[in-house]
Amino acid sequence: MRIEEDVKLDFKDVLIRPKRSTLSSRKDVDITRDYQFKWSGRKYHGVPIIAANMDGVGTFDMARAFQKTQSGMSVALHKHYPLEQLIEYFDENSSESVWYSIGMASQDREKMTEFLKLRPSKIDKICLDVANGYSEHFLDFVKRVRDQVPDITIMAGNVVTGEMVEELILSGVDVVKVGIGPGSVCTTRKMTGVGYPQLSSIIECADAAHGLEGLICADGGCAVPGDIAKAFGAGADFVMLGGMLAGYDQSEQNIVEENGKKFVSFYGMSSDTAMTKHKGGVAEYRASEGKTVKIPYHGDISNILQDILGGVRSACTYVGARSLKELSKRTTFIRVSQQLNTIFGDQ
Ligand code: 5GP
Repeated sequence: MRIEEDVKLDFKDVLIRPKRSTLSSRKDVDITRDYQFKWSGRKYHGVPIIAANMDGVGTFDMARAFQKTQSGMSVALHKHYPLEQLIEYFDENSSESVWYSIGMASQDREKMTEFLKLRPSKIDKICLDVANGYSEHFLDFVKRVRDQVPDITIMAGNVVTGEMVEELILSGVDVVKVGIGPGSVCTTRKMTGVGYPQLSSIIECADAAHGLEGLICADGGCAVPGDIAKAFGAGADFVMLGGMLAGYDQSEQNIVEENGKKFVSFYGMSSDTAMTKHKGGVAEYRASEGKTVKIPYHGDISNILQDILGGVRSACTYVGARSLKELSKRTTFIRVSQQLNTIFGDQ
């Protein structure tokens, strides 16, 4: 047994210190980024915020709404759409703002292989998602997928430490997904005691990835637009959002009415609800590591997009960053006292 004594921080433990700025308005700030992916060689231009590949978030309707509002954001589609629906979607819509998701189950890989056979050039970005990105088995899987699709951008995870980020990048991953335990409907920390404070994880993983010309996507734990700004300030190249985008018209979920108020059910992808829906139940050898919550119905997604994009833009203005690219260079975090932490913790 060993104890690491270094302090590790979460979003709620810091604030971004304002800096002298020559910017006169937040509309002067460019929050798009341009990247060239290490392995696929493809170019990316957009607002690097991604809707998570979860039921109720990573939906076709969300992707259509992002296109329609020209938000510049993208969607990691959840992996449960049947092949026919995927084909129909990609025949009718641009793949520009969409990541095709798979897990390690053999049926996911078979579905993707079939899709690529039928529509060879329709997808340019995929998201390989497992709860624990530390297994040898996952590394082998990543290498096999990289061999199968040499010119498709691969985002894969999740991990939380620099050495595993390096290993994944060297195995063919373009964007490493970072976060174990911070998700709004995740119970991994409670059920297993495993995790890593998300802000420190982003700082350490971004440093490791950038040293190898790779990128990271900070996944989980953003509850307000300020958390997204902190994630970018800490060095994230992409930020993935689940709970912040749940409960809207684009969730493709049933809306229920109780006492005149409307609600939507939102659940983790390893929750009992998800496992019952997609796998017919929780396998006997594992406990569910996600929960189900009832959240208020919020209407159209455009209601939150403006807050998200406006919040990030405003953060850039406060530190004098003309573009999102400059934000991390101009970010100084200050640690907040326990008392302030308690006040903000509830927000
Ligand atoms: P949020 O933005 O809601 O805080 O976090 C979203 C992220 O939580 C997802 O992208 C995914 O990585 C993670 N997540 C989603 N469902 C589950 C779950 O059931 N269990 C765990 N451990 N993580 C989950």
